[in-house]
Amino acid sequence: MIVENNVPLQPYNSFGIVARAQHLARITTEADVAAVLNAAEWREAPKFVLGGGSNIVLTGDVKPLVLKVEIKGLKLIDDTPRAWIVEAGAGEPWHDAVEWMVRHGYPGLENLALIPGTVGGSPVQNIGAYGVELQDRFESLDAVDLETGRAFTLDAAQCAFGYRDSVFKHVRSGPNDFGLASRALITRVRFRLPKPWKAVAGYLDLERKMAETGNFTPSPQDIFDWVCAIRRAKLPDWRVLGNAGSFFKNPTVTAEQCADIIARDPKIVHYPMDDGSIKLAAGWLIDACGWKGKSVGKAGVYERQALVLVNRGGNADPVTGGEVMTLAKAIQTSVYERFGIRLEPEPVVV
Ligand SMILES: Cc1cc2nc3c(=O)[nH]c(=O)nc-3n(C[C@H](O)[C@H](O)[C@H](O)COP(=O)(O)OP(=O)(O)OC[C@H]3O[C@@H](n4cnc5c(N)ncnc54)[C@H](O)[C@@H]3O)c2cc1C
Repeated sequence: MIVENNVPLQPYNSFGIVARAQHLARITTEADVAAVLNAAEWREAPKFVLGGGSNIVLTGDVKPLVLKVEIKGLKLIDDTPRAWIVEAGAGEPWHDAVEWMVRHGYPGLENLALIPGTVGGSPVQNIGAYGVELQDRFESLDAVDLETGRAFTLDAAQCAFGYRDSVFKHVRSGPNDFGLASRALITRVRFRLPKPWKAVAGYLDLERKMAETGNFTPSPQDIFDWVCAIRRAKLPDWRVLGNAGSFFKNPTVTAEQCADIIARDPKIVHYPMDDGSIKLAAGWLIDACGWKGKSVGKAGVYERQALVLVNRGGNADPVTGGEVMTLAKAIQTSVYERFGIRLEPEPVVV
């Protein structure tokens, strides 16, 4: 295990923000984590775990030791009458892992195709798209406690998955609290892919694809291809126009709050939830406040989807994390002033 100094992080974050890691260690095996924790120089040092950098905003050079997870490996570890269980190294690129599973005949994650980032980043915010969330296909994960060096395994209940949320996003605030933010390095993730496979195609865009193609019994490969095509048409390619995907979570409100907003804005996009609350489309709220296509410095709001903040400076003169957060705060203020709703950012601010 080698610790590199003064490492440029621009290639390692999807916004393309310029920043440096004062120290960075590449973690390619579980033994590399142990080596870091056994090194007197690094044992007590603050640490930041980096996957694909597709859900972070870097606001300056990173002082904690960056542990860049590059653990590889994809294999079928169990094949039961009810499911395929596939294990993936946390450093595998997420999309490549999904493609591998579909190609090898272990379908179930095709709705989550083309999401940037790594396998290890996927449980952190319980990634979701086109009607499937990671928790729907999750079996268990292995991780290392960066404070004690202890390796442990968590099942879905222990991960406490929620909407873009998990135990990995919460800071432990007391002895009985299980928050693992900044504390766990996920090394491997296992997926439970149910048999018989059933298409999840109830999402409007996928229904449109079925109608367009006349294919009402899509295969896993069809869904995979459709999701890729839909995403390419809707979202900017972060390699061309830096971004971190959806910048804000969709807020939930009570039925009364929603009725109050509808009285003022009848067109508001809203989805009733099973628990009686109502989920609002954050992109619609931002658009309604007139932000689509606007910029503050080199931080912009994407023309085709107001939920995506973009780097308008490119790689040569990129946006700074400060500019992104200034724009995000301005959007939060105007949405709050108009609708009384506080938008919560999705990416991790570093
Ligand atoms: C164009 C675009 C589209 C996107 N679309 C979606 C979408 O449809 N749905 C969705 O849910 N998300 C989406 N995202 C967000 C992002 O892709 C996911 O959140 C992804 O899972 C982040 O993984 P990562 O490896 O890049 O994590 P990073 O950005 O590197 O890290 C994010 C957080 O996870 C932690 N982390 C990362 N790896 C590990 C690990 N091995 N162990 C412990 N902690 C770790 C980091 O410390 C950090 O706190 C999109 C992003 C972009 C740029």
